[in-house]
Amino acid sequence: MDRRLFLKLLAGGLLVSCAPGELASSPIKTNVLRPPGAIPEDFFASRCIRCGRCAESCSYRSIKILDLRHGFYAGTPVIYVERIPCYLCMRCVKVCPTGTLQKVSQKEVRMGLARVNRRLCVTWKGEGICRSCYNACPFREQAIKLDRLRPVVVPEVCVGCGLCTYACPVTPKAIVIEPVYAFKASK
Ligand code: SF4
Ligand code: SF4
Ligand code: SF4
Repeated sequence: MDRRLFLKLLAGGLLVSCAPGELASSPIKTNVLRPPGAIPEDFFASRCIRCGRCAESCSYRSIKILDLRHGFYAGTPVIYVERIPCYLCMRCVKVCPTGTLQKVSQKEVRMGLARVNRRLCVTWKGEGICRSCYNACPFREQAIKLDRLRPVVVPEVCVGCGLCTYACPVTPKAIVIEPVYAFKASK
């Protein structure tokens, strides 16, 4: 990555660091996702030219750029949905010059798939009525429904935006986003 761009992104709080041992493997995992329209993870870091335009275009600052300690993956964009989820404004897909983020529509986005942990969810445990995830979902009653007030994700519709995870008041989160589509090409 260009040094001036690196410093600019660092100053703007768009760069994030990594823990030791994450250098060689993909950073994508539960609640750590690629932006909307991302091509499969197998090809992502090879196609992305580390221009940072997606992160700069995101008015919510959802997209962070991995720093130099991420080795091969340095300079590529990620979204930590527990910190700032994706609000689906779709700006990033419009500015990506390489097609690493493809120009998909909101409903075609598949950043991941929400998964409810019934042992952590207060409503599923019968300890209260929460509905925070349900209320936060931009596709309420389509991507997430209520079964006797308990949240149930509809895999065919969920886009993996992480708004539900961000809204969940439980620690650790009772609803998380699994990057099930990111590694599709290798499975
Ligand atoms: S769709 Fe909008 S909110 Fe989501 S990551 Fe892209 S620019 Fe940010
Ligand atoms: S805009 Fe596209 S090419 Fe540029 S950093 Fe983002 S994903 Fe990579
Ligand atoms: S269930 Fe969660 S991840 Fe899926 S679309 Fe709704 S808010 Fe987004």
